Amino acid sequence: MSTREKWQNQPIDRRPKMLWSFLRAASVAATLCLLLIPCAGARRTQFKPGWNFYSPQDDITLGRQVAADAERQLPSCNAPRVDAYLTELGRKLVAKLPTGGVEYPWEFHCLNDKEINAFALPGGYVFVNRGVIEVSDNEAQLAAVMAHELSHVALRHGTAEATKAQFAQAGVGILGALFGGNAGGALLTELGRFSAGGVLMRYSRSAETQADVMGTQVLYDAGYDPRALAQFFEKLEAESKGKNPPEFFSDHPNPEHRIERVDEEIQKLGGEPGKMKRDSLEFEAIKREVRALPVVKRTTAAGREAPRREGPPPVPSPNFAEYNSSGFTIHYPDNWTKYAEKESVSFAPDGGVLEGSDGQGGLAYGVIVNVTKAQGKPGAANSLEKATQDLIKTLQKDNPKMKVTRQPGHLRLNGEAGLSTYLSNESPAGGEETDWLITVLRPEGLVSLVCVAPTKDYEKYDKTFAAILDSVRFSK
Ligand SMILES: [Zn+2]
Repeated sequence: MSTREKWQNQPIDRRPKMLWSFLRAASVAATLCLLLIPCAGARRTQFKPGWNFYSPQDDITLGRQVAADAERQLPSCNAPRVDAYLTELGRKLVAKLPTGGVEYPWEFHCLNDKEINAFALPGGYVFVNRGVIEVSDNEAQLAAVMAHELSHVALRHGTAEATKAQFAQAGVGILGALFGGNAGGALLTELGRFSAGGVLMRYSRSAETQADVMGTQVLYDAGYDPRALAQFFEKLEAESKGKNPPEFFSDHPNPEHRIERVDEEIQKLGGEPGKMKRDSLEFEAIKREVRALPVVKRTTAAGREAPRREGPPPVPSPNFAEYNSSGFTIHYPDNWTKYAEKESVSFAPDGGVLEGSDGQGGLAYGVIVNVTKAQGKPGAANSLEKATQDLIKTLQKDNPKMKVTRQPGHLRLNGEAGLSTYLSNESPAGGEETDWLITVLRPEGLVSLVCVAPTKDYEKYDKTFAAILDSVRFSK
């Protein structure tokens, strides 16, 4: 009689439960193993996604916006053949990349920058400096750098880091996000525009190890020599001994035991492969083409610091996207980006978040919705007026130049009694801005919506702001 039959002959409650559930789990694993090809991969390191405030769709939206900034600010190789080659190589690797079923748009760009670096933005926007192509000994080494970058995208490290940063600043709400002067505004700026030290590309050492291990798997599965990954980083390290390390290491801090960890994963994958692709004639041709490109000097000290976006943001789209929170639903132009923080959510066009004169970030164009604790109950005499005055006083404390330009007047928002107040302040875009503040007292607190635009452009946003306010639906 098999062990299992013996158990089954026992009264149900006498079965060794722990072992039983373990066996059940094991049989599920065996079934999964049949579905996953190749089954030898069962021993490879598995990854669990990190805690992330954002959805994969947010990764794409945010990445697209930051990539547009990067493309405006960084010198392109202007070499269609090189971009096409990077795209073909990148897609070959992406085919072996576990993304958990998410389809990222994937874009690959060559940058005319001799510095050895590459970066991938959330959502799959990958930039490779010419320096990386020039310093790679063969196609496998270039593929290794790209596989490492693609792994950051699949593991969603950028927005996971942003989540951590945001959590560390929990409680920072509308005041900072809207008017600058504290960390909330700075974070919004970092997320909304491209910068070298941007939170989206400031990886931890543990994220680096994960990207190395997944990168090794991707190379292996794509038929490239997976040892190329460790070889490339080893080479970079050796070459920079005693000198300035390549920029790659400032975005991707060297994890401990990097080479050993890659070797360990190769063993898990079944040991050093016999015949693996290392180079191609195509790579050698591309490398020659890149070497012949004109050299572009970096324009700023940091090379990648973001100058201000030129000109006003694009016209708001007439099509709207929906945002749901526990307290309300709101619609916003679908070419705007949503920035959700703990107590507030902002919607801003591309280029709507700018650096103010104090060096802090601020929303120059867009809408912020926030819920703050308020004294008094909804409906009680003057409680909305009182809560609104308190909010304005708090705002003015942080923004001495802020003035009320039109005293509160009554309006209805989704059928609820509200107040409409106009204020003026210094705009991060220069000159004066108009802030239209709408407040409603709800059981969860004082809900405030602020529509912001530079005064000279305000008229162009009036209709969009009105449509956004009309779309508000409070939960019953
Ligand atoms: Zn990295």
